[in-house]
Amino acid sequence: MQRISLNAKTEGKSIGLVPTMGFLHEGHLSLIRKSKKTTDITVVSIFVNPSQFAPNEDLSKYPRDFKRDKKLLAVENIDFIFHPSAEEMYPENYRTYVTVNDITAKLEGEFRPTHFKGVTTVVSMLFNAVKPDRAFFGQKDAQQAAVIRQMVRDLKFNIKIDVCPIIREPDGLALSSRNIFLSPLERQDALVLNRSLKLASKLIKEGEFETRKILKGMAKIINSVQCSNPDYISIVDAESFDKISKLKRGNNYYILIACKIGTTRLIDNIHIRVR
Ligand code: AMP
Repeated sequence: MQRISLNAKTEGKSIGLVPTMGFLHEGHLSLIRKSKKTTDITVVSIFVNPSQFAPNEDLSKYPRDFKRDKKLLAVENIDFIFHPSAEEMYPENYRTYVTVNDITAKLEGEFRPTHFKGVTTVVSMLFNAVKPDRAFFGQKDAQQAAVIRQMVRDLKFNIKIDVCPIIREPDGLALSSRNIFLSPLERQDALVLNRSLKLASKLIKEGEFETRKILKGMAKIINSVQCSNPDYISIVDAESFDKISKLKRGNNYYILIACKIGTTRLIDNIHIRVR
């Protein structure tokens, strides 16, 4: 991979990287299309990264179908798939981890304390392997994108980070590789995530700036279905990811939800600029 990238660079070509864990959907494809539009060569990495899953999480269950992914990527006409094995990425004597402080302790970090360390470590390895000029991430994982931005700033990676909008099903459910685990009833119930985000957006437009009240309305929707079990429903500053009690005009926020629907953990969010 490094040889290919160095050759491309000597030819003056720019490289775009789209890191994924495979089982591709239109969300991933939207990042790939953005990369194709803005760089000369697009590399899609497919790697289910063991170090970002805690022992009690769904690493072994995580959906994988490389043949199907390859077909989808052939249609998109990308240049390279980088598909390393876990043994190549983490050989027996592997000892090095990248950690970003503060922002990684909040929200996702509270419920998945080792998750971001795995993400920043693998993304650093991917950056060193692929040597991209630009890397494309989804707002679907808004906190992850913020963590990566922080890491790139702090470690002086010469890479532009692009964060692309969330792609949704027509009924509002954010696309996710994990949606495949939802039963038909859970698939219906999973709409409470998007529905509660929409309520928050409506309340804010109507002038409700007390986050306590907005979160109460959201929780009511989330808890209206039996199989939901929220980890967090939060309104945070879009830069620091600190929780906010009162919104201010002109500021940017994320409203974020992590919620189990049955046994499937889903996340969703919206970005809000208060006018
Ligand atoms: P994953 O394969 O889940 O690790 O996701 C790979 C990349 O695709 C991450 O940057 C995600 O944020 C992004 N992504 C996942 N789902 C969506 C979606 N529904 N819309 C846009 N981007 C997404």
